[in-house]
Amino acid sequence: MNKLRIGVEKLTSCSGCINEIIYALLADPKLTESLEIAYFPELLDKKSLEGQFDIFFVEGSIVNKDQIETVEDIRERSRLVIAVGTCSTYGGIQSLRDKKGVEEVKKHVYPKPELIDVEGDVYSLQEVIKTDLAIPGCPVDGNLLLRVLRKIAIGSKDISITESLCAECKRKGLECVLVKKKIPCLGPITAAGCGAICPSFGRGCIGCFGLRKDISSKEIENFANRLEEAGIMKKSDVLSFVMRFSYAKEKGYFEKIVEERGR
Ligand code: SF4
Ligand code: SF4
Ligand code: SF4
Repeated sequence: MNKLRIGVEKLTSCSGCINEIIYALLADPKLTESLEIAYFPELLDKKSLEGQFDIFFVEGSIVNKDQIETVEDIRERSRLVIAVGTCSTYGGIQSLRDKKGVEEVKKHVYPKPELIDVEGDVYSLQEVIKTDLAIPGCPVDGNLLLRVLRKIAIGSKDISITESLCAECKRKGLECVLVKKKIPCLGPITAAGCGAICPSFGRGCIGCFGLRKDISSKEIENFANRLEEAGIMKKSDVLSFVMRFSYAKEKGYFEKIVEERGR
């Protein structure tokens, strides 16, 4: 059987998700044996992109023209392109600078801002090229990456993640912190994939995996209204959480939510 030829690209990020990818590859040697890791600059000496790929994992967000060209090249070379982590899926923490004026932000961060080559806004991978799957998480969960890789390795056509965090929570038999303890939890509107880490420790979810794939702007609003009516959390605070990792921007809700919050 031919080995799956895979590549891993790191864009602008803290590299936390690269560590998770390495963890995933080390955790299942049998699976790793079925892969040809053909491009992974953080792991291999080879730094140039050559040939076609079966799967490309892309970590980090896109901040300049070189990165746009890189991901367009990757799209042409790879059968599947998978956004890994919240930076790649939604833009991540660095996208908080969007709409703030990048020149001003650079002055506060770098001693020589003129040397920094970045665009005005930060883009997720999904905003620049078509992706086949986006796996959020800050960092991404290595076990979830493994599950996706195993699915692809056995030839599964459906690799999408559609359920909410609540589904994972229920499967683990966890007590609902929202219902039982009135702790704010964004589980109903958040995508599954982390294994319900926060509810496992009695804490509410702040939505770091991003919005559920099929969610509508109306559902977010209804959810925020219900939490406010129940006295659990102010609607404006729910919307702040939804905006935190730029999920709203990727879904096209950004302007609407900014408008609703009145700033
Ligand atoms: S998603 Fe989080 S852990 Fe992953 S690269 Fe971005 S900031 Fe780092
Ligand atoms: S604790 Fe949160 S994620 Fe779990 S079932 Fe309740 S609302 Fe959903
Ligand atoms: S429970 Fe929510 S906030 Fe916690 S890791 Fe999972 S998605 Fe992120």
